[in-house]
Amino acid sequence: MTNMKRVALHEKPRLGIMGGTFDPIHYGHLVAAEMARGEFDLSKVLFIPSGTPPHKIRRDVSAANLRYEMVELAIKDNPAFDLSPLEIERRGLSYTVETLRILRRTWPEYELYFITGTDALLEIFSWREAEEILTMIQFIGAARPGFDASDFLLKVQQEHPETLGRIHYLEVPALAISSTDIRARVRNKQPIRYLLPEPVRLFLQQHGLYDAE
Ligand code: ATP
Ligand code: MG
Repeated sequence: MTNMKRVALHEKPRLGIMGGTFDPIHYGHLVAAEMARGEFDLSKVLFIPSGTPPHKIRRDVSAANLRYEMVELAIKDNPAFDLSPLEIERRGLSYTVETLRILRRTWPEYELYFITGTDALLEIFSWREAEEILTMIQFIGAARPGFDASDFLLKVQQEHPETLGRIHYLEVPALAISSTDIRARVRNKQPIRYLLPEPVRLFLQQHGLYDAE
């Protein structure tokens, strides 16, 4: 039945893409991905931990394999969530446009939906080959406390009419959780329980992540 519904509503199956540093992954990421899945009828959401993120070169980012394992622990109970080593296996900096070209080839029959928080949405026109990206995929900007997208969306409508209908704002139960705050909490010996899945909390504890940043 779900297949019939899909055919009736939209022609192609839809793949969600959730890129991030995930240092560590937390409930903000998971809620954004799950609400986007439900709202846009995504068949699957692929989490893609970044390699060496172009915008975070200055801070020491945790080893890619550790960030990858934390995502694995966080998503394993959701059958619609999947994990891709695409960016961490690639040498050098990872640019979203390159990742999307690979995904486009790997999933030719799918419509691609890139999920971001509103903080990242506000930045998309500074991404390498942004205009090209916007012709390849759709964007879902999930509400994130502290980052209002309404001015941005108005401006995009006026200045980039070619993106009409390709950038979607998604209201989600807002979670003011960030990886930066979680790392600071670990450093300051403050609690992080309930900000992220328990297996991830135990994992970062076992590996002494963020203790002495
Ligand atoms: P950092 O503080 O290190 O930047 P972060 O919490 O912002 O970490 P990222 O890995 O940078 O997490 O984010 C990956 C993606 O998830 C981005 O698109 C970001 O906007 C989105 N995101 C992160 N936290 C939230 C949240 N609380 N609500 C909605 N979206 C979020
Ligand atoms: Mg961030």
